[in-house]
Formats: sequence, structure tokens, C-alpha cells
Amino acid sequence: MKALIFDIRRFCVNDGPGIRTTVFFKGCPLRCLWCHNPESQLNKPEPFLRMDKLEGKFFEHEEQIGYEIDLDELLEILFRDRAFMEESGGGVTLSGGEPLWQWKFSAALAQKLSESGIHVAVDTCGYVQLRVFEAILPYTHLFLYDLKGYDNHRHKENTGASNSLILENLEYLIHQRANIILRYPVIPGYTDSEDDVRGILSIMKRNSDILREIHLLPYHKLGQNKYRGLQASNPMPENIPDADESVGHIESIFKSNHFIVKIGG
Ligand code: SF4
Repeated sequence: MKALIFDIRRFCVNDGPGIRTTVFFKGCPLRCLWCHNPESQLNKPEPFLRMDKLEGKFFEHEEQIGYEIDLDELLEILFRDRAFMEESGGGVTLSGGEPLWQWKFSAALAQKLSESGIHVAVDTCGYVQLRVFEAILPYTHLFLYDLKGYDNHRHKENTGASNSLILENLEYLIHQRANIILRYPVIPGYTDSEDDVRGILSIMKRNSDILREIHLLPYHKLGQNKYRGLQASNPMPENIPDADESVGHIESIFKSNHFIVKIGG
């Protein structure tokens, strides 16, 4: 069994508890305008022009983003850091792109890890069929569940897709009493309207026994060079205001409602 991935990062500390190894799957069903991993979107390998500096001069070279990996080969790599994971209360995070777009592989990987006593987190945009969550839920200790807005019309404009399925899947996970941390990208002028914030707050308030924590992910421009590398145009304008003010405002709203708020993923 093989998956298409584009990176494996060791010693991550922002993708769940403890020290983690994060696997980045290639392919995503959404097209968020602000995506800072545009090289993750296409579900096939693609060329990327990388710029390197050598002795003061810049050189461009082409490399390929995305490669196939076998399940056993991936497990062998992940098990190498088992001691760090166990000592720190960490584990493995499946991220992307969207790890559940290759759900048969992701579920098989999560099962193997989980049965070996390794903590499994799944960082998901939620835009997959319900049966996918049914398949992976028994082997997932934590869902890092992205909500990119409450207003459906704006969500479609921002991501290319409706949020109905995403909200339905979240309801399912809540009903199953899964361990969930919400992740909310704060993109000034795109996701930070009062009705989007209040909508997400209302979901948390209705389910406060399960949804206790939210991570606010401020907009940053680190993905800009990647669009150049992909020879694609960046869908975001240059002049997006700094996200700090918006993040501070949203943080105070959730905190005043007694939720745990973390800035950053
Ligand atoms: S869900 Fe994530 S990876 Fe997919 S387009 Fe949106 S920001 Fe990019």
C-alpha cells in the first residue's frame, strides 16, 4: 500500500502534544486563498523551482514535490523517533494537504501506529465523506480540526467549497466524543468577520464538554515564494493587513467565554 506525500518532519512541537513526527500528505480538496502550502494541493508530483544562494549568487534549480512511500517504509521511519515520542508524550501527526484524501492509507497507518502504542493526531480540513471519519476514528487520539469560517457563502468564496460537510463531520466527531482541538485561520478581511467568529463560538458553546480549545492561526506570507516556485500566481493580494489586531480581538472573545486559546498551530 502506497501514499503520495511531500514531506516528513521530525521533532515538531506545534502539531499536537509533545515531540512529534509529522507526515505531510499531498493532495487537498480545498483551495483556500491564503494557503501557505500550495505545493500540497495537487494530488500528483509536480515540479518546483527552488532558489539557492551560493557565494553571493542565486541559482535556480528544479526539483519534484511529492513522492510515493510504502506503508512499511513509512512506519520504519516513524518508529525511529519512538523514544522521543514516548518521553515527551508526543507521537505522529498526519497532516497535508489533506491526509484523509488518501484515507485508506491514513487509516491503515493510524491503526498500525495506534496498535503500537503511538499517539496519533490527524490535522484535517474535514472535507471528506463521513465514512472516512468512521474508518479512522478508532485509531485517532486527537483531531486538529480546521474551521475556516461559519458563513457558508463566504466559505465557498474563500476555499472553493461549502462548509456543510465540514460542519456535519464535526457534529459526528462531537457525537462520538472524539478528542478535538479546533484550528481557525485568522485572515483579515476573509475569515474574521463578527458573524464568522460568533458562529464558531456558538458551536463551541453548544458542545463545550468536548470543544474546549481553539488555536488561532494568524495569516502570514511565508507561502508567497512557494507560488513563484510553482510558477503559479498567488490568489491573495499583497496588502493584507497585519493579523495581530484581529487575533487579539478573537482571542479575547473566546477567552471571555472560558475557552482555551492558543495562538499558532
Ligand atoms: S485545507 Fe490547508 S492545505 Fe488545503 S488548500 Fe486549505 S490551507 Fe491549503
